[in-house]
Amino acid sequence: MKALMLEEAGKGVKAELKDIDEAQLTERLPDGDVTVRVTYSTLNYKDGMILNGIGRLVRQYPHVPGIDFAGEVEKSEHPDFKPGDPVILTGWRVGEAHWGGYAEKARVKGEWLVPLPEALTFARAMALGTAGFTAMLAIMALEEHGLEPSQQGQVLVTGAAGGVGSVAVSVLARMGYSVAAVTGRQETHDYLRALGASEIIDRSELNAPSDKPLERERWLGCVDAVGGGMLARVLGQIAYRGSVAAVGLAGGNALNTTVLPFLLRGVNLLGIDSVMCPKAERAEAWRRLAETMPMDKLDAITQRARLEGLPDLSKQILEGRIQGRVVVEMPG
Ligand code: NDP
Repeated sequence: MKALMLEEAGKGVKAELKDIDEAQLTERLPDGDVTVRVTYSTLNYKDGMILNGIGRLVRQYPHVPGIDFAGEVEKSEHPDFKPGDPVILTGWRVGEAHWGGYAEKARVKGEWLVPLPEALTFARAMALGTAGFTAMLAIMALEEHGLEPSQQGQVLVTGAAGGVGSVAVSVLARMGYSVAAVTGRQETHDYLRALGASEIIDRSELNAPSDKPLERERWLGCVDAVGGGMLARVLGQIAYRGSVAAVGLAGGNALNTTVLPFLLRGVNLLGIDSVMCPKAERAEAWRRLAETMPMDKLDAITQRARLEGLPDLSKQILEGRIQGRVVVEMPG
């Protein structure tokens, strides 16, 4: 089978398309009980880090990256799955600690798999992929903490033109929220308006630190894919008892803030983890994504790539130059 193999090269790593023996899948995960013929995988920010050897996410080489995939079950010893079943996988450290979706086949534990929701094709499920799934988890967390479309005000999305951001903007707008989108790229303004953003904010406005720990209450809530200085600034602008769903660190992982937004405004900082998310919540997030993501918008934010194009695209995602989502087509 063909696989994009990542190997150590000097102080870094090198990815190359190779023919490998399928038996290696079982050797790498002896207690795996389902083999999936992968149809699509995707390129996420974390895949970008892995493909460039950043963050020590992979400890064992050679490695097959790809943190998510969709495809048909080929072999199964798991009671919930049989050959031919359409499935999707995100998280569980697949593509990091375990071999992932950048190959014609993947072997995983059945408990990690989710049946493909009926309303989605493989291609659309992966156009959503880890980024879309995480955007939905973030929105669900904001709603669990009181956010609702009837409230007067705006919801902020940072890193808006990226994968998580694009899905968050589209879904929030479809649910009836007024969405303000933060981007560093002038050329994405029309794109973000087409997804449903009613206001576009330049990244520089929120990247600059404020000398006041609390500012005007500007946002009902926020889906934050950027972290760092922008998250610190946004916390001081959240309305009374509003929440920030912290998803990512594209702008850095340091967080220099004060306790005042929490003490004086009751702001909630909600951590979003898509990797170990429990099964019931996982299924609910996919159900709601299939129900609320406008499919025409999903198609419009998706570009397709092949395994051999990933080393180059992985550099672009780390530089914040990818717009929307990249779906990876398997060979064959
Ligand atoms: P993308 O690269 O597609 O999007 C990130 C966006 O952030 C970019 O498009 C850009 O948006 C903005 N950005 C990039 N660099 C900077 C910077 N230096 N300062 C400010 N903004 C910046 O990545 P994803 O959407 O796939 O992922 C976003 C983040 O979420 C990543 O950190 C990722 O690791 C994390 N993540 C976390 C998950 C979890 O379970 N918690 C799951 C999935 C992702 P623009 O050009 O519009 O400014």
